Amino acid sequence: MRERYADIIVDISHEKLDRTFQYRVPERLRDTLEVGACVMVPFGNGNSLRRGYCVGIGEECKFDPARTKDIVEIAPKGVNVEDRMIELASFIRRNFGGTMIQALKTVLPAKQSVRKLERRSVERILDREAVIALMGECERKHQTAKARLLRALAEQPRIPYEWITGKLGVSPATVRSLHQAGVLRVERTEGYRNPVRLQAEEERRVPLSGEQSRIVEEVCRDFDEGRTGTYLIHGITGSGKTEVYMQLIAEMRERGRQAIVLIPEIALTYQTLLRFYRRFGDRVSVINSTLSPGEKYDQCERAKNGEIDVIIGPRSALFTPFPNLGLIVIDEEHEGSYKSESTPKYHARETAEEAARLSGASLVLGSATPSLEAYYRARRGEYRMFSLDKRLAGGALPTVYTVDLRQELKEGNRSIFSRKLQELLADRLAKGQQSMLFLNRRGYAGFVSCRACGHVMKCPHCDVSLSEHRGGRLICHYCGHEEPKPARCPVCGSQYIMGFRAGTQQIEEKLRELFPHARTLRMDGDTTRAKDSYGQILSAFSNGEADVLIGTQMIVKGHDFPNVTLVGVLAADLSLGANDYRSGERTFQLLTQAVGRAGRGSLPGEAVIQTYQPGHYAVVRAAEQDYEGFYEEEILYREMSGYPPAAHMLAVQICGKYEESAKQLAEMLSDVVKSIEDVETGKPECVVIGPAPASIGRINDIFRFVFYVKHTEYERLVHTKDVLEERLKRLSPRRETVQFDFDPINTV
Ligand code: ADP
Ligand code: ZN
Ligand code: ZN
Repeated sequence: MRERYADIIVDISHEKLDRTFQYRVPERLRDTLEVGACVMVPFGNGNSLRRGYCVGIGEECKFDPARTKDIVEIAPKGVNVEDRMIELASFIRRNFGGTMIQALKTVLPAKQSVRKLERRSVERILDREAVIALMGECERKHQTAKARLLRALAEQPRIPYEWITGKLGVSPATVRSLHQAGVLRVERTEGYRNPVRLQAEEERRVPLSGEQSRIVEEVCRDFDEGRTGTYLIHGITGSGKTEVYMQLIAEMRERGRQAIVLIPEIALTYQTLLRFYRRFGDRVSVINSTLSPGEKYDQCERAKNGEIDVIIGPRSALFTPFPNLGLIVIDEEHEGSYKSESTPKYHARETAEEAARLSGASLVLGSATPSLEAYYRARRGEYRMFSLDKRLAGGALPTVYTVDLRQELKEGNRSIFSRKLQELLADRLAKGQQSMLFLNRRGYAGFVSCRACGHVMKCPHCDVSLSEHRGGRLICHYCGHEEPKPARCPVCGSQYIMGFRAGTQQIEEKLRELFPHARTLRMDGDTTRAKDSYGQILSAFSNGEADVLIGTQMIVKGHDFPNVTLVGVLAADLSLGANDYRSGERTFQLLTQAVGRAGRGSLPGEAVIQTYQPGHYAVVRAAEQDYEGFYEEEILYREMSGYPPAAHMLAVQICGKYEESAKQLAEMLSDVVKSIEDVETGKPECVVIGPAPASIGRINDIFRFVFYVKHTEYERLVHTKDVLEERLKRLSPRRETVQFDFDPINTV
C-alpha cells in the first residue's frame, strides 16, 4: 500500500496558516484521520509533542521521506474555543467546499499589531434644554445639518465622531462651528470601549407583551432543559422582535453565557445600536466593515477574555470566539448578504446552526418575510416557529393599489407613471408629505417581456426567464438553451416585446417634467459611490430636504421615515424576470418591504405597485401582505421543479482565461458527475444541468462556465463535490479555477 502524508499546521493562528509541515500517516491512523482533525506530532529538534491540525492528506511526499516524522496520535476533541472554531472550519469546508486553509482563514481573525486607536467623540457642553432651544432656532433658519446634530446631541450627550460625519451626514466644519459657539467639545478616547455615554434615565425597559414573553420563556426553558434548537420568529417590522432578542440576551447573561447578534450591515443603524448600548452598556460591542483587521482582532480578544457578552455585526461576527456562547440571533434572516460571495461560499444560517450545536447554544432567526428555507424547515418541525403580528409602536399597514401597466398602455398612457401614481404624487406634494419611488432592479439581467400582455420569455426546460444577448439571441443561464428573440409576442402577437430599460436617473427626469417644483433626491449605485453619501442622502431625506426619494432596493431596507405616506413601485416585475429560481421570493420580499415603508408614523400610508403581471402570486400576495399565501404557491413551484429548499442544488463554476479550455474542463467535470451511479438503480445519481456560459459570461476577459447538479439530499451533493475535488487534485488544471456554491443565492 502507498504511504500517506498529511499537511499539519502546528500552533494555529491566522498568520501561520500557510506554514504547514508534512507528517507521515501511520498505518493504524489511516482510516480515522480526517482533514480538520486535531493531532499530536513531534516537533523541532527535541521532538517535543505539540498539538497540530490536519489541513490536507495526500500520497505525495514533498520532502525527504526518510526524514519525515510520523503523526503520534489523533488528539481527543477539545472543548476550548479554538477547538470549536476548528471544528466549525471543518464543517464549512465539508459542506461548502474550498480548502481547509480557506475555511480556517474564514473563522480565525487575522492577528494585527493592535495599536490602541484613538477615537474621537463629540460631547455636548450645554444642557439638554439649551440644545433643544438652539435646535429650534437652526430649524427656522434652515440650517438643517446643524439642527440634525443638535437633535442627536439632545438625545445622547456623547456621540462617536464617525457617526456624525457618516450616518448623520454632518460636515466637520459644522462640528467646528458648534464647538466655537461653545455647544460641544471634541473628546479623544483610547481603545474600543462603548462609544456612547448613557443618560441617567436610560434604563426604561418596556414590559414584554404576552406573545413576546412566551417566546422568551420557551426558548429559555428549552435551554435550561438542554434541548437547545433553532427558532424562527416570523414577525412584521415593528412587532417587537428586537425587544425579544434583548430579553433573551439578558437571560443568557444571567446564566453566564454570551450572545452573537447578526444584522445585515445595511440595517445596522445608529438607532438599533443605541438600543443595545442602552441595555447592555459596556458589555456590548460592534463589528462592521469600517473596522480595520486590527480592530476586529481586538474585538475577538475582548470576547475571548470575557470583557464583553454581546457582539453585534454582519455575517463574520458569527466567528467571535466567546468561551461560553449561549445564543445566536440572526435578524432579517432572509437577507442575501448572509451568504458569502467568495470561497468558502458558506451560508451564515447553516453555519450558525452548527456553531450553536458545538456550543450548546440556541439559534433564533427573525424575519418579516422568512426565507423559503427557514419557513420550510419550520413547517417540517425542524425549527420551532413563533409569530408576532401586531405593530407595537403604532402605525397601520398601508392601503395598496396594484396598477396593470398593460391597461395603462391600452388606454394611451405611455408614461412610466400610472395615472393613479401621478394623482397620489400630486396629492402628497400639495400636502407637503413625502413619497418614495422604488425601481425594482434587483437581479435584472436583460429579460424580455411583452408590454401588451406581460408574457415573459422563459426557458422551456428550466422555467426561469431567458436573457437577451447581443445579436438578438435569448439564452438560458442554467442549461444553455438558446433561441432567437421573436419579433412579435408568441402569446398575443404584439410587437411591443422588449427588455425593460429605465434607470433611476430617467425616472428623476420624468418626474421633474411632471412636477417641476418637486424637490427630489436619488439613491442608487451611482449616487452612493462616494464614502458616507449613503447616510447623507438618507438623513437629508429624513430631515425633509426633499419631497421624493427615488432609488433602487437600497431605499427599502431598514430605515424609517415617519413623514412618508406614499410609496410607488415602478415596475414590480423587473425582479420577477431575473433569470434564477429565487426571483419570485426576491420580488415578494422587496415588494413587501417597499410597501411597508409607507405610513410608519402617525399618518396613514398608501402604496402603488405598477406591474405587467398583476396576477403573479408574488405581486398579489405582497400587495395583500400575505406571507403564508405566498409561501404555499412558491413552495409548490420549488417542489415541482426540484429547486431548494425542496431539493438541493450545487453550482460548479469554472473560470479561465481561455474560453475553449475552460469550456472543455466544464464539460469534462460535468461528465464526471453524470457518470456517478446510484448504487441501487445503476442510473446516474444526480440531475446535471448545463454546462452553460454563466449569466455574466465574461468578466475582465475571464470566461465563466457553470453547471448545476441537483439532488434531494444535500449529502449526495457533498459527495459529488468530494469526487470533483479529488479529480481536480489529480488534474491540477493550471489555467482554470473551480468554485463550488451550494444552494446558490445568486446565479453566477
Ligand atoms: P422589530 O424588531 O420587530 O422591528 P422592535 O423590537 O424594534 O420590533 O419594536 C418596535 C417598536 O415597538 C420599538 O419602538 C419598541 O420599543 C416597541 N416595543 C417593542 N416591544 C414593546 C412592548 N412590549 N411594549 C411597548 N412597546 C414595545
Ligand atoms: Zn404579448
Ligand atoms: Zn434552461
